[in-house]
Amino acid sequence: MTDNQKTKTKTKTEVDIVLYSVAKGVATITMNRPKYNNAQNGRMTYELDAAFQRAVADDEVKVIVLKGNGKHFSAGHDIGTPGRDINESQDRVTLWYDHANKDGGEFLYVREAEAYLGMCRRWRDIPKPTIAAVQGACIAGGLMLAWVCDLIVATDDAFFSDPVVRMGIPGVEYFAHPFELPPRIAKEFLFLGDRMSAQRAERMGMVNRLSTRETLDADVDAIAAKIGTMPRLGLALTKQAINNIEDLRGKRTGMDAAFAWHHFAHGHNELVSGDKLGGFDAKKMAEENKNQDKT
Ligand code: ZN
Repeated sequence: MTDNQKTKTKTKTEVDIVLYSVAKGVATITMNRPKYNNAQNGRMTYELDAAFQRAVADDEVKVIVLKGNGKHFSAGHDIGTPGRDINESQDRVTLWYDHANKDGGEFLYVREAEAYLGMCRRWRDIPKPTIAAVQGACIAGGLMLAWVCDLIVATDDAFFSDPVVRMGIPGVEYFAHPFELPPRIAKEFLFLGDRMSAQRAERMGMVNRLSTRETLDADVDAIAAKIGTMPRLGLALTKQAINNIEDLRGKRTGMDAAFAWHHFAHGHNELVSGDKLGGFDAKKMAEENKNQDKT
C-alpha cells in the first residue's frame, strides 16, 4: 500500500464531515471534524463547496449559516491529521486541472488556486447572505471561511490568528487581511501572529456581534430570521453592490498579487528546506502557537 492509498483509506473512514440542513429559510452548513478541530482537508473543502451550491440552488433558502461542531470553529487547513488528503485528486468544480500528479511549484499552485483562493472567492460572492458562527479557535484557513461570510458572530472566547508568517509565507491564500482590518492592525496581526480576541476583532470591525457559547445558535438564528424577511433580489443586489466596491478598492487584484507572493514563498521553502511549509507540520505549529499572546 502506498502512502497515498493509506491516506485515502483513512479519509474514507470519516463520515459526515460536512453537515447540511434547512429550516425556516435558513441553510446551516456545519463542519464536522470536531476531533481535529475542524481542520479542512481537501474532502471537506469540496464538500463545503457542494453544500454552498445546494443552498444557492434551493429557492427556499434565503440565508446561509456556516458553523463548526465542537470546541473550535476551525484550526485551519489540514496539515497533519490522519485524514490529510493533499495528494488526492478531487472532483473539480471549475474548468481547472488536477494537481495530484504534478511536480514542483505546479502541484500546490494548481491545488490552492482552486481549493483555496478560487473557492473562497466564489463563496464570498454567493448571491445570498452568509453568516459565520465562530467559537473558540479561528486560525489561518479558518479565517478564510469566516471572512468569506457577510457577517461574523463570535463567542466571547473566540480568537483569530494567522501564524503562517512563521512558515515564511505572507498570510493565508485568501489575502483579505487589509480589508478585514485596518492596514496597520493587519501588519501587527501578521508580524506577531498573536491571537486577536473576539472583543478586539469586534472593535476593529472584523466581527459584527459578540455572543456566548450558550447563546451563539440563538443569536445567529435571530439575525438570519430577520435578514430572511428581506426580498431575495434586494439582498443579492445589495451584496453585489458592496462586494463590487471592495473589488474597486483593490480586493481582487490585491489578492492576485498576494497569491503569487504566497506561492513564491512556498517555492522558496521547498528550495531551501525541501518542504513547502518550511518544515512546519500541525504539531510544530501548535507548539509554537502556545507562545501566542492574546490581544
Ligand atoms: Zn498555501
